[in-house]
Amino acid sequence: MNSHYRVVVIGGGVVGASVLYHLAKLGWTDVCLIERSVLTAGSSWHAAGGIHALNADPNIAGLQAYTIDLLSEIEAESGQNIGLHMTGGLTMAGTPDRWEWLQSAYRTFQSIGIEDCRLVTTEEAVALNPIMSGEGLLGGMWADREGYIDTTGTVHAYAGAAKKRGAEVIEHNRVLELNQTLEGWEVVTEKGTVSCEHVVNAAGLWAKQVGRMAGIELPVSPLNHHYLISDTIPQLEELDFEVPMTVDLEGFTYLRQDQKGVLLGIYEINHQHWMMDGAPWEYGFELQQEDPDRIEHELTLGFNRYPCLQEVGVKTWVNGAFTFSPDGNPLVGPVRGKRGYWSACAVMAGFLQGGGVGKSLAEWMIHGTPEADVYGMDIARYGVWAENKQYIKETTGQFYTRRFVMTYPNEQLPAGRVLKTPGAYADMTAAGCQWGQSWDLEVPLYFAEAGFEETPSLKRPNAFPIVAGECHAVRNGVGLLDISGFSRFEVTGPGARKWLDRIMASKLPGPGRARLAPMLAEDGRLKGDLTVFNWGPGMDGQTTWWIMGSYYLRAWHMRWFDDHMDECVHVRDLGEDTAGFSLSGPKSRAVIEKLTDAAVGDLAFMGCDSFDIGLLRCKVGRLSVTGELGYEIHCRTGDHATLRRILLEAGADQGIREVGFNALLSLRLEKSFGIWNAEFTQGYTPGMTGMDRWIDWDKNFTGKAAALAERNGNGPARRLVTLEIAADDADASGYEPVWAGKDKVGFVTSGGFGHTIGKSLAMALVDVAHCAEGTDLSVHVVGVEKNAKVIAPSPYDPAGRAMRT
Ligand SMILES: Cc1cc2nc3c(=O)[nH]c(=O)nc-3n(C[C@H](O)[C@H](O)[C@H](O)COP(=O)(O)OP(=O)(O)OC[C@H]3O[C@@H](n4cnc5c(N)ncnc54)[C@H](O)[C@@H]3O)c2cc1C
Repeated sequence: MNSHYRVVVIGGGVVGASVLYHLAKLGWTDVCLIERSVLTAGSSWHAAGGIHALNADPNIAGLQAYTIDLLSEIEAESGQNIGLHMTGGLTMAGTPDRWEWLQSAYRTFQSIGIEDCRLVTTEEAVALNPIMSGEGLLGGMWADREGYIDTTGTVHAYAGAAKKRGAEVIEHNRVLELNQTLEGWEVVTEKGTVSCEHVVNAAGLWAKQVGRMAGIELPVSPLNHHYLISDTIPQLEELDFEVPMTVDLEGFTYLRQDQKGVLLGIYEINHQHWMMDGAPWEYGFELQQEDPDRIEHELTLGFNRYPCLQEVGVKTWVNGAFTFSPDGNPLVGPVRGKRGYWSACAVMAGFLQGGGVGKSLAEWMIHGTPEADVYGMDIARYGVWAENKQYIKETTGQFYTRRFVMTYPNEQLPAGRVLKTPGAYADMTAAGCQWGQSWDLEVPLYFAEAGFEETPSLKRPNAFPIVAGECHAVRNGVGLLDISGFSRFEVTGPGARKWLDRIMASKLPGPGRARLAPMLAEDGRLKGDLTVFNWGPGMDGQTTWWIMGSYYLRAWHMRWFDDHMDECVHVRDLGEDTAGFSLSGPKSRAVIEKLTDAAVGDLAFMGCDSFDIGLLRCKVGRLSVTGELGYEIHCRTGDHATLRRILLEAGADQGIREVGFNALLSLRLEKSFGIWNAEFTQGYTPGMTGMDRWIDWDKNFTGKAAALAERNGNGPARRLVTLEIAADDADASGYEPVWAGKDKVGFVTSGGFGHTIGKSLAMALVDVAHCAEGTDLSVHVVGVEKNAKVIAPSPYDPAGRAMRT
């Protein structure tokens, strides 16, 4: 062991070994991995070793596909056998909704380039896996690139390939302490102290403790998981092929062949957490006692699905633990405020995700940003609220139990709620608000009569007419929307203007003005679809600026601001201090004017100022996400209920109606206004998304060289368009493939129903050759192909008169 390395990776499971390999592969060879015991000594040695390309998050599915392709590469590079059995895999559906979902998921996989899968009938599936009973099954999906590997061999292959490229692996050496230094980290180990620039927490079952060594409380917990290995099954002895990896979603089980028996794994309905504060240091190659009683129901389903199991004994039980984050996705990336500390934790399926995690993290460390859009596994998708143990217990438990349970797009899950509420929560609930959750905050979806219950559905839900009514109120009268669920950052200090001018690609607004502001990474891809407000000089003569964006990106954006900070600039996240309401619709001016004698009605489109609104002092911006005349009114969080009350009172004679975000999503679609995580992501560029129209090309800003290269080159291969879809009972939602005849020419970024124009709409990224207005295309909506046409942007009020009146 040297006294200094560029990177120290803590943990020799599949994730740590993959991170080490990718660092070395990308050229950082002054790197070492420190392992407490021997390689694989955490969850990795006893994993079932199953690999599937499919995942509900398309970006993570892409990284899983990468991992599977990588396996043979590391085997060849290291010379270490990984026992790869590419048997192919089946995912089976046992209810009509699930079958419909699977058909729609199949189209999503086509969209993201996973082409080697196909839908199969139950009969075909039984022929592919003859030990499976087809009873109650409606169909399935076959994927070529599924199977299983030898877990120990795979970890050694990653580590061996990394060593061949110059990395070092140090076993039997526990990391005891981490101390932050000016240059990076001091890593105190049983065998001495090492200094390094970067430290990676890949400590798996011990991630919690290795986080705490740096003062970080990771939202992660281990849970127990059972699988059994059967005795030899005579039926398998007679087959001249291996049965495929098979997931029975309604049965909560997965199965693969193990020699001439099978391995049957169970996602347990009665989940059981294990050592929530992390595994004991002395824990090694032991397992928990199996508990068949706790999983009796799932076992019965499994033994009925594979009747041969009723005839043979169980050779081995495994009840081991592995780690989960609240949403089941990994926690990867740099930790805000801990320069040089990187997380590679909570990797629930290390053997199918480990390659992608290692690749993305190594790119992030070396190039400053990963190639793929990894927001879905970025540690900054959580805030401090997620450190709470009860929150972690509820959410990880919910994820585990529902691992194979179908979640509908309109379904609200209960774990970790109700947490943070807007000030007017009780009053809004009494008014019939149906709540959703954004990050930690309850946000209004729509307002319904007492006793209304939304039915989970893949198609248009029973709340559809309610949302139609709210849209109508906004377009024809005035709607009131709680906008506590927007992020607000205050930027002050003598260096504020210069800093904002550098990190935002747009011109900055003048005093009393707001402006849409794309923010770019150095590689020219998007980092934010923000709005910058210039509130003008305060008493001290210094300008106060605001940046507004998506609430759930608060920690993600703060980390970016910190990492790109200048001297003499102060950025404060106002998310705990400021809330608000938006008034929207042709009658909104009449309502706000009743509450003040100030000239709020004179505020021009995109103007902003401070006003007295009733008894409250508020900041008001004349902005519009709905495409109507509108005002965003910001108040202190403690004033939220009062602000709602006075706005409703003032609007009573105008027929004001409270509305939720479901209506906003429909209204903005009719204006072709994009939103983050749909039309705009960190994987897309200004040219693709039309964000380039807000760029000020005459100034210098972060990402300019790359953005210019896109502008001056051949342009993007795909552009954002608006589609009208001939859909009847369901609308597109995102990632559905777009076809020109038999050619796949793009995918939907988001969709829904435009209640004012009475049409099913979608926005989509489409090959430039097929972007022209009037082009006939088709789109799969919930698995069924529907005709679609490219239409001009903003099908409602294309000239934008309503919002400028
Ligand atoms: C029963 C079961 C079945 C599973 N089946 C599958 C499957 O089919 N497919 C799949 O992809 N995944 C499966 N998994 C999950 C898989 O095992 C995990 O995702 C994976 O092992 C996580 O790897 P890791 O490297 O993050 O953590 P770990 O394997 O836990 O490795 C962490 C390592 O860090 C070391 N360490 C911790 N603290 C320190 C310290 N202070 N100093 C030095 N070293 C330290 C530990 O000794 C350990 O070796 C299964 C898990 C279980 C329990």
